[in-house]
Amino acid sequence: MPPAIDPVELAVALMRRPSVTPADAGALDVLQDALEGIGFACHRLPFAEEGADEVDNLYARRGGEGRNFCFAGHTDVVPPGDIAAWSVDPFEAVVKDGMLIGRGACDMKGAIACFVAAAERFAASREGGHNSISLLITGDEEGPAVNGTRKVLAWLEERGEKLDACLVGEPTNPTALGETIKVGRRGSMNARVTVHGAQGHSAYPDLADNPIDRLVAILHKLATTPLDGGSERFQPSTLAVTTVDVGNPATNVIPARASAGLNIRFNDRHSGASLTDRLRAVCDEAGGEVELAVSVSGEAFLREPDEFAAIVADAAEAVLGVRPEYSTAGGTSDARFIKDHCPVAEFGLIGRTMHKVDERIAVAELYRLTDVYRAVLERYFAA
Ligand SMILES: [Zn+2]
Repeated sequence: MPPAIDPVELAVALMRRPSVTPADAGALDVLQDALEGIGFACHRLPFAEEGADEVDNLYARRGGEGRNFCFAGHTDVVPPGDIAAWSVDPFEAVVKDGMLIGRGACDMKGAIACFVAAAERFAASREGGHNSISLLITGDEEGPAVNGTRKVLAWLEERGEKLDACLVGEPTNPTALGETIKVGRRGSMNARVTVHGAQGHSAYPDLADNPIDRLVAILHKLATTPLDGGSERFQPSTLAVTTVDVGNPATNVIPARASAGLNIRFNDRHSGASLTDRLRAVCDEAGGEVELAVSVSGEAFLREPDEFAAIVADAAEAVLGVRPEYSTAGGTSDARFIKDHCPVAEFGLIGRTMHKVDERIAVAELYRLTDVYRAVLERYFAA
């Protein structure tokens, strides 16, 4: 019997659901239909912790015995941004000149479709099947990630259901399929610095206390002092000032308050706590009243490339003819939650256009990634 699932058709169907976080817009229904059609048992897992949007999630599993190989990903997408700047409707999933264009093409509805197609092809080639394949798909990866993967992992633990290895389908390749497998991720934290001064007439600055002067000094110090020179498997940590807010409409008033936002992407030489201390020290040095609020979205982590990462690398090399390098570059992903449960590696499509206008992936790459994923399953269960 020829395979029922075409990765491009499934990617198109998923992309036509405008599932901008936290909306699902029917994307998980499309996926569930496809998975049930090839023998997966599906569980929908909506979570609604207070203080965050309710999010729908899906856990699907096929086969009951033996090792459980999991594919993790997300059906939510970032907003399209300026729609007029797109050459096509971002949610129409148009194929033009061999390219599938639309939000989610590479990050990462395309990769989900490839894995589903690979799972079907793999299962069809196996007699009996003493193995288990699962998918952990969240609708909350691009958002606060509160009611997503972390909650599904807790639910699995409660049921006594174990993942033995997990492949995350984020777009890990910068320019061509086969370049990189991610085995760790930098940490990320946001901070807001608010300097309090004393309002006054701008003609009499000595009678006021201008918070902007101190804020500028703090930001200058932070922006010009390198955090580190990198580490064995990580690039140097980075700090970016993302906003400066004074909101003062008057030209003759020194404002009482000035604040700024920062985002830090950090390697394994730091932690959220150590960076908080460092920020606090710079704020204190400026003198006066300086408030600091931080939120750590994820600590840096590294899994030394293990047997599982090697299986993914071998499969990619066999199909693509190039051996991917192990990397930790880029943003965070839900691998930061999964790494505490089982070996995890990330390999997906080409990320060059992710989050951009005209996000796209070549149709041919979808078929190639399907072949890689199938080869990963074959090698994993043969090992
Ligand atoms: Zn993603």
